[in-house]
Amino acid sequence: MVNNISIEATVWQEVGPMPGTTPGKGFPGVVPGTYDLVVIGGGIIGTSAAIEYQQRHPSHAVLVLERTAPPAGASMRNAGFACIGSLSEIAYDINLMGADRARDLVQRRWAGLQRLRERCGDDAIGFEENGGHEIFTTNHPALERLDEVNELLLPVFEHTMFERADHLCDQLGFSNVQAMVRTPFEGTINSGLLVQRLWTIAQDVGITFQITEARDVQSADTHAHITTNNGRIEARKVVIATNAFPLGPSTDITPGRGQILVTSPVRGLPLRGSFHMDEGYVYFRNVGDRVLLGGGRNLAFAEEETTEFGTTDVIQHYLEDLLRTTILPGQVFSIEYRWSGIMGFRPDKQPLIEHIQPHTMRVFGCNGMGVALGSTVAAEAVALLSD
Ligand SMILES: Cc1cc2nc3c(=O)[nH]c(=O)nc-3n(C[C@H](O)[C@H](O)[C@H](O)COP(=O)(O)OP(=O)(O)OC[C@H]3O[C@@H](n4cnc5c(N)ncnc54)[C@H](O)[C@@H]3O)c2cc1C
Repeated sequence: MVNNISIEATVWQEVGPMPGTTPGKGFPGVVPGTYDLVVIGGGIIGTSAAIEYQQRHPSHAVLVLERTAPPAGASMRNAGFACIGSLSEIAYDINLMGADRARDLVQRRWAGLQRLRERCGDDAIGFEENGGHEIFTTNHPALERLDEVNELLLPVFEHTMFERADHLCDQLGFSNVQAMVRTPFEGTINSGLLVQRLWTIAQDVGITFQITEARDVQSADTHAHITTNNGRIEARKVVIATNAFPLGPSTDITPGRGQILVTSPVRGLPLRGSFHMDEGYVYFRNVGDRVLLGGGRNLAFAEEETTEFGTTDVIQHYLEDLLRTTILPGQVFSIEYRWSGIMGFRPDKQPLIEHIQPHTMRVFGCNGMGVALGSTVAAEAVALLSD
């Protein structure tokens, strides 16, 4: 292992303790009684769902159970790409699920990003709209599908989504890059600030948080009983939004670990915005004058299909090599932060909103791209819950 930094590594984002918590102690105790809604999981989807529900039902009692503060889920540990899909990912998705469903997924991510920005405010989450880029080190077949994908997505953006931007490769100082495709419809956020902001909004609208691990959910006639490490909670409705750590009956969600590193500040760094490589398996962006680089799961699929946090020599060395040879050739830098997070994946890449018991819904959505999609999936789930 290179380094096993976990929650501490998110300090690079310079975020303080979670709103409402006392460091090391969490929230005060749960108010006894029956809740109208209990959401299990305080990530983007769980917290957004709680907010959506509370805004529809202001007089209802809503509780979010999250097992750690700050939450150790993907929402706080991601790379902060407010992305809706790169050219090669969307071309892949068209092959996997057909053109209509691929476009629908892009549309839901785009709608989710607008909803998230409206809810949180750009400044509060560090949103920067510097565009998204995909770089190609070989002549990838997706480059031939630029027109097909643009035509498919025209109804969503009413504008050309992707254009070739090969001229930027030299300007940005890359080496060994043959082609680049750019979209204006992508930005970056600070993931720590985003989760803090969502928790603040949730508490402002009256939602209670409890740092507690849910162990089991069982339905009775009119209620669900949630067993936790702190006792039992009753709820009229339950939403499980625990991503790669599913509760309830078995599912087709599998975990995938993502590893990330961040460099020291790089003098004169020309790179701005977000960048994808290898069909989304590798991603990098600037964070001020630093480079955040993550991915490489495709080098060791079996080893990375895990819910254990940690970084590995194989992937960290690969990422560092990529910095030296392709992204920052000839530049002086060191690696200052490393961490990992756990994503959830489904084989068909579709969100999942399902009733698993009479009073209990399980919501999962993001297949490694939840910053934009999360708010849409949360809203869709709450619409079903309220009907
Ligand atoms: C390294 C990495 C990089 C990523 N980069 C990006 C990116 O750049 N852009 C993008 O769009 N997406 C990215 N993602 C994916 C994105 O972060 C996720 O899709 C999104 O955060 C999922 O949100 P969620 O609310 O479903 O899950 P989570 O954020 O994982 O939330 C689930 C929460 O449930 C809690 N929990 C689990 N079990 C229990 C239990 N039994 N009781 C109580 N609480 C429980 C967990 O602690 C967790 O906080 C990345 C993910 C990782 C790991």
